[in-house]
Amino acid sequence: MATILFNEIVFGPIKSRRLGSSLGVNLLPRFGKWCSFDCIYCECGWNRDGKKDTTLPTKEEVYQALEGRLRQLAQEGTPVDTITFSGNGEPTMHPNFPDIIEFVLKLRDELYPLAKVSVLTNATRLGKEEVRAALMKIDNPILKIDSPLKWMVDAINIPNEAYSLEETIGNIKLFNHNFILQTMFLKGEEGGVQIDCTAAEHVEKWRELVRELAPREIMMYTIDRETPAKNLQKVTVEEMEEIARPLKEEGFNVQIRG
Ligand code: SF4
Repeated sequence: MATILFNEIVFGPIKSRRLGSSLGVNLLPRFGKWCSFDCIYCECGWNRDGKKDTTLPTKEEVYQALEGRLRQLAQEGTPVDTITFSGNGEPTMHPNFPDIIEFVLKLRDELYPLAKVSVLTNATRLGKEEVRAALMKIDNPILKIDSPLKWMVDAINIPNEAYSLEETIGNIKLFNHNFILQTMFLKGEEGGVQIDCTAAEHVEKWRELVRELAPREIMMYTIDRETPAKNLQKVTVEEMEEIARPLKEEGFNVQIRG
């Protein structure tokens, strides 16, 4: 499959409909993927396909790349609306993630005081107090829960370490509503398991979870590019609108990306 790997520590800025001019940061290996999940839809491919590179950038390399690029962009007068941590896997797995967040916040305050700092995370490291504290300091902690049903998490996210939905939900509650919930919606089959995120069983429980967590924003999205699992289909915008309708009526801020 055509996997998308970010071969730089800092990349972009990329024009994003949602985030504006977004400068990306990859704290993971530059030529491989490293994640505590192995999602069937991951644009970086399967974990097993990324084993050839397991080298993480040091925090000094990250500081240098970030500072160099941000100073260059500021000098050129290039706008940066968001500094977004995503990249080739799970950014919070970097051992120096909290220090790197401190560094980027200082740099942002100096060079782009209006820019937001965003982190896309699968929430598996929220049990670590220092990771949670770092995520609470940034503007946009974007926390993934794809399903409140354990069998669907096992089928969609394929955790490759001990993972407890209950613990993750408990850790997310500590954000006191000040986070963005991100949920993928798809249909299909993988490993002999049929998955349908529009099924009533999933939709009802997911809405209940949204009400319980009451995030300040909810991002619903579907697959956009080639996926490592071959038998997956998109969920339509109309289907997601229908799933979101009662939540929107209750006042939740739901963003849908088809
Ligand atoms: S959590 Fe993100 S990086 Fe990790 S496997 Fe899933 S989609 Fe890929």
